[in-house]
Formats: sequence, C-alpha cells, structure tokens
Amino acid sequence: MSTAKNATANLNQLLELQLPSPVQRFRPDWEGADNIEIWIKRDDLIHPIISGNKWRKLSQLLIREKENLSHIISFGGGYSNHLHALGWCCKKLSIPFTAIIRGNYTKNPTPMIEDLLAWNTSIQYVSKIEYKQRHNAEYLNHLQQLHPTARIIPEGGSEASAISGISEMLTESQQNFDVCIVPVASGATLAGIARAQSPNNQAIGIAVLNGVGYLEGLVEQFLPCQSGANWQIVHGFEHGGYAKSSPALVRFCEHMSTQYKLTVEPVYSGKVFYALKQLLKDGFFAPGQRLLVVHTGGLQGAR
Ligand SMILES: *Cc1c(COP(=O)(O)O)cnc(C)c1O
Repeated sequence: MSTAKNATANLNQLLELQLPSPVQRFRPDWEGADNIEIWIKRDDLIHPIISGNKWRKLSQLLIREKENLSHIISFGGGYSNHLHALGWCCKKLSIPFTAIIRGNYTKNPTPMIEDLLAWNTSIQYVSKIEYKQRHNAEYLNHLQQLHPTARIIPEGGSEASAISGISEMLTESQQNFDVCIVPVASGATLAGIARAQSPNNQAIGIAVLNGVGYLEGLVEQFLPCQSGANWQIVHGFEHGGYAKSSPALVRFCEHMSTQYKLTVEPVYSGKVFYALKQLLKDGFFAPGQRLLVVHTGGLQGAR
C-alpha cells in the first residue's frame, strides 16, 4: 500500500468510518420515474455522528496535515453540520478546537452546541456583525496573530483542499452514472463532483438557498481551470431560503421516511429529493439515464 493509502486507511479506522459508503437502488412510485434508473449514494451512513459531505471536505486536510495540526479554528451557525463533524474529529484525534459561532447560545445551547461542549470544544460566540467578517482577509490575519499555531478552516470546510475529498464521493464507487445530483450551498460539493466526473456526464446542483447567479459564481471559483460546463444549478426549490421550509416540504420529508424508509431533513437532502420528484415529472431526464443522488447527511441538524 502507498503511504497516502496507508494514512487514509489509518484515519478511517481511527474515526470508525464506513467507507466506501453504499450505493443503493431507489425505486420511487413517482410520475416519470419509470424509465429512469435512480441510485442513492448513502454518505449519511459514513458515520453516526460525522455528517457525510462535511467529512469528505475535511478528509484531505486531516490526512495530509494531521501531524502539524496543533489547534484548529473554524466558523459556523448554531446547528452547523461542519462544526459538528469537525468537533468530533478533533476530539477523536486529540486536536484542540475553537468554534466561532454566530450568535449567543450561552443560555439556550442547541443539541449541536451541547455535543461540542461535551467534546471539550472551546466556543466563542460572536455577534452577527462580527460573523460577517469571517471571509475578510484583515479579520482572518488578526485571528491568526492571536492564535499563531492555529489552522483556520473556513465556514462549511469549503476551501480548495476540500474539493478533492468530495471527488472521492464519486470515484470510490467505481460505477458510471449519467447524472449526479447534489445540494448546493457553498458550491464546494457540486464543484468536487463536476471535477471528478467524466466530461460527458452531468452534475446537477439543487440550490438550497436563493441565489441565481451567485451560487454559479461560487462553484466557478472552485473550478478555476475547468472549461466547458458539465454542471448546472437548478433553482426554484429553496422553499423560502436557507434553512427555511414549507408545509409541503415537511410533509414530503415525512413521506420519504414512511414510504421509502429514507430519512431526509428539510435543509439539504429533503430539498434535493423534493426537486428530484418534480424534475422526473417534468421529464427533465432522458429515458434510460442512470442517476446518482447523493445523500449528503446532515441529519444531526434536524434535532
Ligand atoms: C453543508 C452541507 C451541504 C452543502 O454543501 P456545499 O458544499 O456547501 O454546497 C449539503 N448537505 C449537507 C448535509 C450539508 O451539511
């Protein structure tokens, strides 16, 4: 085994990850689904605590930089799947971790924050105004000066090194799919899929927040060298915006659980499957196409 493969295997074992995650056939009783072959990439099953695509984004960093990580700082909201996954990894790997959280939850910690506290995360609550500076170079320089040995990771784990970790989502199953469908928030997941797939396959992102044009720009930033778009973002299934929901979406999530024994949450995967149902009905896919829908996890956020 190569050193890189060894390091990966060691880390997967240490964190008790189930990799590669299973790919399962999905046969919904939905209009337009008859001539389409649908598979689900179950990244929600990688680990009971670490959320699917957030682990993927962190994996390369933890493998390559593990020996040099003496302190990690990162950002997120009170329900953040990213902070949750990172907090668990830091606990398992004995890396001191500081979470900078938007808003003050001292009096009403969320289940996510209670987990972080139990894992000895150092929590810093900041105002919404300070949190807005999280991508600002001057602010980040200052933070780095205060913590010279810390590795600062952006919100959602969405940095350049995250893209190759995401790509493994597609390559590890060694099967070919015509279309791969993922949710889009920061765009890193869609970019990773678009980079990994062969040029005549399509990556479809379902926008989980309002941002026609804005989200496309985010994905392009992660793909500076890629010419020819083999990806696109479908808008219109935001249900009001990020972390917003609608009665129809809530009903749909329940339907997925009772009818198909698949747990989805309303922030990411619920919106993806809701959109899939509508796109099938609209005849969006060509007959005979093989679809891979990625379940990116995130079920902890729905607690
Ligand atoms: C963060 C997250 C996403 C969004 O991924 P991006 O790379 O930010 O577009 C999708 N699904 C889940 C479960 C997430 O936690």
